[in-house]
Amino acid sequence: MSIVPESERPNPYSAYGAHGSVLVLNSGSSSLKYQLVNPVGGEAIAAGIVERIGESSGSVRHTYAGNTTERELEVPNHAAALRLALGLFDEIGPRLADAGIHAVGHRVVHGGERFSRPVVIDDDVVAAIHELVPLAPLHNPANVQGIEVARELLADVPHVAVFDTAFFQALPPAAYTYAIDRDVARAHGVRRYGFHGTSHQYVAGKVARVLGRRVQDLNTIVLHLGNGASASAVRGGVPVDTSMGLTPLEGLVMGTRSGDVDPAVVFHLARNAGMSIDELDTLLNKRSGVKGLSGENDMRQLRRLVEEGDEDASLAFDVYVHRLKKYVGAYLAVLGRVDVVAFTAGVGENDARVRAAVCSGLEGLGIAVDEERNAARAGEPRIISPDWATTLVMVVPTMEELAIARQCVEAVEGLQPSAAVPAG
Ligand code: ADP
Repeated sequence: MSIVPESERPNPYSAYGAHGSVLVLNSGSSSLKYQLVNPVGGEAIAAGIVERIGESSGSVRHTYAGNTTERELEVPNHAAALRLALGLFDEIGPRLADAGIHAVGHRVVHGGERFSRPVVIDDDVVAAIHELVPLAPLHNPANVQGIEVARELLADVPHVAVFDTAFFQALPPAAYTYAIDRDVARAHGVRRYGFHGTSHQYVAGKVARVLGRRVQDLNTIVLHLGNGASASAVRGGVPVDTSMGLTPLEGLVMGTRSGDVDPAVVFHLARNAGMSIDELDTLLNKRSGVKGLSGENDMRQLRRLVEEGDEDASLAFDVYVHRLKKYVGAYLAVLGRVDVVAFTAGVGENDARVRAAVCSGLEGLGIAVDEERNAARAGEPRIISPDWATTLVMVVPTMEELAIARQCVEAVEGLQPSAAVPAG
């Protein structure tokens, strides 16, 4: 298999031609990220971020036509943040009246068992996202706030919720069920949900598209390695396993999250170190991962420390890679046949050493990276395995905002989900 040149690939999204742009919003507890996207061509027309909402000094950064404007100012709440962003569109460009906004897409972290696809937002959907707060106490409240404010300020266009968990609602029961008392699990919604679904779905689909294959015919392991990190096994476009669980804490070693630990670590520390539930939550979510082991959560800084001979950083890197390798092995077994291992997100797209370390020693399984191909840099999807390898190893930049924008158009128009569009 090889990459089909862009000019020879059909664009299954050209049917969206008449639909202008989509404003994609990602509301965090203290930030609002936005991007105006062309869902057909895929380019970001403008993008920005408002940070430190609710603090005494906040900031905004808006980029349009290659120019970036930055300002420091107090942003009391999410309504003020969105007003600020919309004001910058009119001041710096593109003017909202000329932008042809067709819909607003909201990234929502937790859709529970109710949402397995994007939905056009009405009051019931907002209430349902709110009801899911116990499952995502850090994320869903901010998502709801962003939706409420945006529906008020941009009342003339449809708003769509795109859920991080939706893609993984197709997991088989054997993969999503935790082996705990079934009544307790059912009563409290305890199961694997999986996260980063938009990215895993996009990358698995993109792999097929750039190879000129149908997504139905490919088995892919996707490694999404950003600050948060997750792995998935995707058979014919359908997920069969993923590393994140009830929350985004399970699985791979991340920037500040532990990933898998024996759950008894929690009881042990509660009983013997007198740590409270909140302290344990903070320990595993914010003081663990490569930061907990080395003091640095950013992979670039970690690599710098490794090069300086820092032993803690070296161990952190080894633990990070070891966990990844274990998941690749597990998903090889789950899938039986793997056509592609795809690396994506900040670390996956940029760190050749991580990619080489994960694949080293797997030659006997048909997985390897070619040193020169791995070292090359490009913003486009590319193959980094040697020609003899039976599994392709690829770097595929993720484009979550674009994926959200396209899912938005599909939800508004009632179109076939893009993952099911045959790539050929
Ligand atoms: P998120 O969206 O989860 O915040 P990103 O996908 O932006 O995260 O990834 C952030 C991570 O990517 C950080 O750990 C950062 O160090 C890493 N990263 C970004 N650029 C590089 C690079 N050139 N080399 C190595 N790591 C990088």
